[in-house]
Amino acid sequence: MSININVSDLLSFEKEKIILKDEYELEPLSYAGEEISFLSPLKVDIFLERIRSGILLSGKISTNVELSCSRCLKKFPFRVETKIREIFTFKEKMELFKDEETVKEILPEKIVDIEPSIKEMLILSLPTKPLCDPECKGLCPVCGENLNEHQCDCETEFIDERLKILKKLKDSM
Ligand SMILES: [Zn+2]
Ligand SMILES: [Zn+2]
Repeated sequence: MSININVSDLLSFEKEKIILKDEYELEPLSYAGEEISFLSPLKVDIFLERIRSGILLSGKISTNVELSCSRCLKKFPFRVETKIREIFTFKEKMELFKDEETVKEILPEKIVDIEPSIKEMLILSLPTKPLCDPECKGLCPVCGENLNEHQCDCETEFIDERLKILKKLKDSM
C-alpha cells in the first residue's frame, strides 16, 4: 500500500501548503519477527510545504496497535502517538540533504509516497521490550503459568541456584 500525495501544486508555487487530515487502514507491520496488527485506523494529521529544493512533511500520526508482552507473552493494546518529519527531494538533489537523517524521493510524476515514512516512525515509537504492565510478573519458569493471573505452587529454583553457586564460591575462598 502507498499513501500518495500529488505535490505538483506546491512545486509550481500554486499552493503554499497541503494539509492532510485522514485515516487509513494499514496492513499489519512486521517488526522484530512479529506481526503487529492495528486495533484502530491510522490517524494522519500532517502538512506538506515547499522548502528550498524539496518538500517538507511535518505533523503527527497516531493509532493503536497490538503488542505481545515480552514477559508473559499476552497481547495488549498499545497507543502510538508520534510526531513525524521528513524531507522529500528529487533524485538529482539528494546530495543537498546529505546531512539529514533521512531523505526520500519525490517521484518523477511529482508524487510523494508518505507511507514508508509513516511505517518507519511507527516502528521507532514501539518499545523494544513491550510490557503489558510495568509490574508484569511474567510466566512461571517451571509450569508456564501466567503469574499475573494465578500464583502456582512451583518452587522456582532460579534464585536458589544462584545462591548455591555463591555459597560454593564463598566456601572455597
Ligand atoms: Zn505481561
Ligand atoms: Zn509454576
